[in-house]
Amino acid sequence: MNSQKIESEFLRISRILNRQHNKNQGIELLGRYIKSRFGADVLFYDFKVDKNQAVVNKVSNDHESSGTPMPIERPLEDYRNPLLLKGKEEIDPYFGDSRRIFLMTGVYAIPVVTRGEFNNLLLLYVTGEKEISLEVQAIGKYAAKELVAFLSRVKKSNQFWERMIFRTNYLENILLFQNSEADLDKIMKEIVENIPKAIDMKKCSIALLDKEKEYLLPYYSNFLKHNPGLKYPMDKGLTKDHTGILAMEKKEPIIVYDTRKDPRCDPELAKELNVYSNVTLPILNLQGEPLGVMYVDNEQYEIFTTEQIQFLKIIGKHIGLILTNLDYIDRLHSEVRTDGLTGLYNRESFWILFQEYQKTLKKTKASFALLMLDIDDFKKINDTYGHVLGDCFIKAIGASMEESLRGEDLVGRYGGEEFIILLKDIDEEGAFRIGERIRKNIETIRIQGISTTISIGIAIYPEDSKIGENLLKVADKNLYRAKIEGKNRIVPGYIDKM
Ligand code: GH3
Ligand code: MG
Ligand code: MG
Repeated sequence: MNSQKIESEFLRISRILNRQHNKNQGIELLGRYIKSRFGADVLFYDFKVDKNQAVVNKVSNDHESSGTPMPIERPLEDYRNPLLLKGKEEIDPYFGDSRRIFLMTGVYAIPVVTRGEFNNLLLLYVTGEKEISLEVQAIGKYAAKELVAFLSRVKKSNQFWERMIFRTNYLENILLFQNSEADLDKIMKEIVENIPKAIDMKKCSIALLDKEKEYLLPYYSNFLKHNPGLKYPMDKGLTKDHTGILAMEKKEPIIVYDTRKDPRCDPELAKELNVYSNVTLPILNLQGEPLGVMYVDNEQYEIFTTEQIQFLKIIGKHIGLILTNLDYIDRLHSEVRTDGLTGLYNRESFWILFQEYQKTLKKTKASFALLMLDIDDFKKINDTYGHVLGDCFIKAIGASMEESLRGEDLVGRYGGEEFIILLKDIDEEGAFRIGERIRKNIETIRIQGISTTISIGIAIYPEDSKIGENLLKVADKNLYRAKIEGKNRIVPGYIDKM
């Protein structure tokens, strides 16, 4: 084989190894290739078990011996230089067991030193009359050299994947954790503590947008003390640090290598926080709307790898998912929060549903009514007949109200013997009519021959007010009027204007 041909063989070997990501597969392919081109078999020794034993990692001729421990006859140092051995006498002092198993007649063993560590040996051997040719020696030497690069690459990538698996497991734990009753605080604290560790960075903070989306509030951090006063305006004119705003606008991570010089950063703030390089990740909900950002920082200059950024993007998505999910669970919990006695919505959940309804109204011109109801002289019932009977009335009144209403209306138990009703898509006249129906139906209730009455105050949207809280005040005021005007009656909305 001329030197040109050898060169092309070298190239092939490099190509074979370059394409492999798995140690065993790479070695196996290399072995098969050497066997097919040069007729020499290949063993790969891993000095793993201890330094007096090697594990034969892979064999070119598919002997069953892959993974079998082989005793090393001498101190490891004796194998640190290439060995060219011929015949039983020369081979046995070094590779006695291997010779007997594989019937070697000629051996060429080359040390593979990876990052200063001598852990492997590449052994090419022949059987019968064959000899270790110069070509085999050349190819063995070259293959050993290529293996060094291959093994350190595989090791690095293994470490990467190990870390990736660790990270994924870690995320999975957070997600599982999140499905339990754990609170948002706990989960977010976990994240800011552990994410930097998982990607070899130092600092991590999560800032969430306030309800009005005017400020970013740094809620969670592994280095900043929580400070409720600290908030970053979402207006580039009001803040020098634009990374958070940009990340949410672009919906992409913003990568900064030098916070002290980058025009998107506030150098003073960076100095104060001791941050050099950082990544600002948008946190988006499932609809892709920004909820906040995560800052991951380093205390030195750093060029981030695509893997780090890719991983951070996944994390950002997960946090978005967690927040969306928690919000959903939260709402679900509160929606389910009904009053135990009547099965009506309690005050909080009524209010949440009421506000949601009001939000949907902004686009349409519909009007609606809010009714406040209070049982008349309920103390007397309690005092005369006892609380148990009182409770029966509360329950019966709840059921009666539900019967009197349309499916889309909302009824809540506002407090002890006070109720609240939302009548959707209705004007004052309609609200009054339904209120009357409710009042009359309640009047007909008999429990142990006893009856009771209620008073109702109405507020109308948008005539009385466009603001939910104010409507409540109007309804309450009208209820009070109904009481002083003699009870068992309805006082409608915008009475002041009449
Ligand atoms: P008014 O006509 O002015 O409303 O007179 P009232 O006696 O109903 O007075 P008020 O509304 O101020 O009093 C409410 C009473 O209802 C006080 C409390 O003992 C009673 N109450 C509140 N919640 C419950 C409850 O869950 N069960 C029972 N049995 N009684 C309750
Ligand atoms: Mg009351
Ligand atoms: Mg009352």
